[in-house]
Amino acid sequence: MDLNACPVCARSLKLKYKLKFDIYKCAGCGLYVADARFDHSFSSNVDTAVRGTGLRELRTANFELIIEEIKRLYQSNSTNIKGLEIGCGNGWWLAVCKKNGINCAGIEPETSFKKGHQENGFEVTYGFYPDKKNTTKYDFVIFNDVFEHIPDVNSLAASINADLNENGYLIINIPLSDGFFSRCARVFNKLGIKSFLNRMWQFDFHSPHYTYFNAENLNQLVSKHGFTKISEFRLNTLDFDHIKERVTTDKKVSRVTVAMAALLKGAKPLINAAKPDIKVFFFKKTSSEC
Ligand SMILES: [Zn+2]
Repeated sequence: MDLNACPVCARSLKLKYKLKFDIYKCAGCGLYVADARFDHSFSSNVDTAVRGTGLRELRTANFELIIEEIKRLYQSNSTNIKGLEIGCGNGWWLAVCKKNGINCAGIEPETSFKKGHQENGFEVTYGFYPDKKNTTKYDFVIFNDVFEHIPDVNSLAASINADLNENGYLIINIPLSDGFFSRCARVFNKLGIKSFLNRMWQFDFHSPHYTYFNAENLNQLVSKHGFTKISEFRLNTLDFDHIKERVTTDKKVSRVTVAMAALLKGAKPLINAAKPDIKVFFFKKTSSEC
């Protein structure tokens, strides 16, 4: 990760927080950047079974909203389009596409998902994007909580532009730096409680976040690579029926945090009134990069 200049606006980055990895903030556009490292040897702290209970319903509901927007954009042609999900993980997005008759392939570096993908008949390439062997052009490329895990966002956006058909869409479903939970994590950090900010950046997981965008600097980044924003909307962060499972997914989290789960349930109106923690953005390819 280049920490000399902001990848969005090229202004200088200033050290902001010292956690497991240092976090910098851009003086110009407000992008947060972490000096993080992807660690293949690190054993993940997430209990996948518990994670499944808490997350699947929430994420599927969010995916259905994204599918509705894709159908709206393509109207009756939505069954003739071809998409690519970068970092398709367990295949939850691919499953929602399949159910809705939308053709979407995946690319995924983690081969432990392979058996599940095969059982469900998903079309997945194993490796890192961009896969130079692949010459397919797509109508949409989607990231579901993945964009923030990729260090070189400029090369990434340029590759996507090259891999999209004319008028194709870049769809980014992403956690935002100015949402309710992000702000809380920074307040807690000021008070000396670092665990929330560490958790938000996923520094204890094998694939940490490298960046934290807001709506404005994300738009600024992709605009440099031939994309124009056409729509955006809020997605739900918490499934209030499964909030306890969600919060206790990380084994390191203390009983204090479990108590906080109850508090969060009470804070539902406040959370919904604050700036969103997760949004999905639809950007249209309006010019080709050479
Ligand atoms: Zn910047």
